[in-house]
Amino acid sequence: MSYDIGDTIAAIASAPGGAFRGVVRLSGPDVIRCLVGCFQPHVRTDLRRVRRAQVIRGRLRVVGAVGAVPPLPCQLYLWPTSRSYTRQPVAELHTLGSPPLLDAVLRTLCAAGARLAEPGEFTLRAFLAGRIDLTQAEAVLGVIDAADPRQLDGALAQLAGGVARPIATLREELLELLAHIEAGLDFVEEDIAFVSEQEVQRRLAAAADCAAGLARQMAERGLAGTNVRVVLTGQPNVGKSSLLNALAGRAVALTSHQPGTTRDTVSARLDLDGLECELIDTAGLSVDAPADGPERAARALARTERDRALVQVFCVDAGRPLSNWERAQLAANATCTRLVVLTKADRPRATDLGRPAIATSSRTLRGIGQLRQCLRQAVAQRRDRDEWAVTGPVVAATAARCREG
Ligand code: GDP
Repeated sequence: MSYDIGDTIAAIASAPGGAFRGVVRLSGPDVIRCLVGCFQPHVRTDLRRVRRAQVIRGRLRVVGAVGAVPPLPCQLYLWPTSRSYTRQPVAELHTLGSPPLLDAVLRTLCAAGARLAEPGEFTLRAFLAGRIDLTQAEAVLGVIDAADPRQLDGALAQLAGGVARPIATLREELLELLAHIEAGLDFVEEDIAFVSEQEVQRRLAAAADCAAGLARQMAERGLAGTNVRVVLTGQPNVGKSSLLNALAGRAVALTSHQPGTTRDTVSARLDLDGLECELIDTAGLSVDAPADGPERAARALARTERDRALVQVFCVDAGRPLSNWERAQLAANATCTRLVVLTKADRPRATDLGRPAIATSSRTLRGIGQLRQCLRQAVAQRRDRDEWAVTGPVVAATAARCREG
């Protein structure tokens, strides 16, 4: 794969599928040369002499199209100098948004000397040219990948400098402090201090707090992934996998009357009326029964999933009395938001929780709608609290990179 920035690259820049308008973009040193052979301006214009960004109407002679195609009317948006997104000559041909026609335009430009751009290569050039920083490059991807309006808001805010801004402010503050300290060192003989020792300590502590807040924000965002994690927990055989299938509306997890059927974690993306979450089914967690090697490993994995989740759905079988383990779990404080659910509520009730719980049945689907509503509320609250509280939103790629860094 070549990323040579000396190449002139071309790609379709509009959304796939038919549309009123389609865009093919070019970037590189030979943009003008590629266009001169195939683009004819309506008003006599020598493209080689254009010095400022401008829009030029004209026609494009496309090659290789099926049958004879008359010259294609298009508008050429031209940035002929380094004052562009990639700091190279850039051009956009705006024409009818027909996929075969745009393919033909792309072929024409490649025949004239351009090569097909790799995915994200225009943004890569903008980044390499210092036009955007890495968090903004990642935000471009975040905008493209956004699964809901909330994620789109977050990515757009990051694109506009959401994370870069607090980091830049922190950097400026530290550089200014350093300049004051160094100036003081130059005049140490004269006993002149530009900033007092207490002031230095106060500002350093504030900067450390700010950096820790940013790091925490990144870590929490990364743990949550792109969606809030919701984990189903409870003893083996209480009906967790059946509940996952009922909530997902399809058979995602294997269910069985044999305890211990679920060993690996199984997950499904759940759309809660426009709000997405990742629902995770774990192996039963109860420690009442001794566990063999794989079973022990499955329980350890389940505990990790539970600890990483922001919302926990604790399942209790309505058809049998509470075990000691369940009693202890219910009495303990949960580290995340916890919903308590009674499963198999189509059977005669044999348990008394002594607290409110959502009664559900995966057989009759009783209570599944109510559980979805409660889940939606819990997921919305966690998203507000955990992802956007400290410094503003960050796309997942940025959070992951900062965590690795
Ligand atoms: P898990 O081990 O907690 O994942 O439990 P499963 O979902 O595999 O279910 C264990 C057993 O309970 C299976 O035999 C299911 O058919 C049964 N079961 C699950 N949900 C219900 C329910 O809502 N009603 C009834 N009557 N049985 C259920």
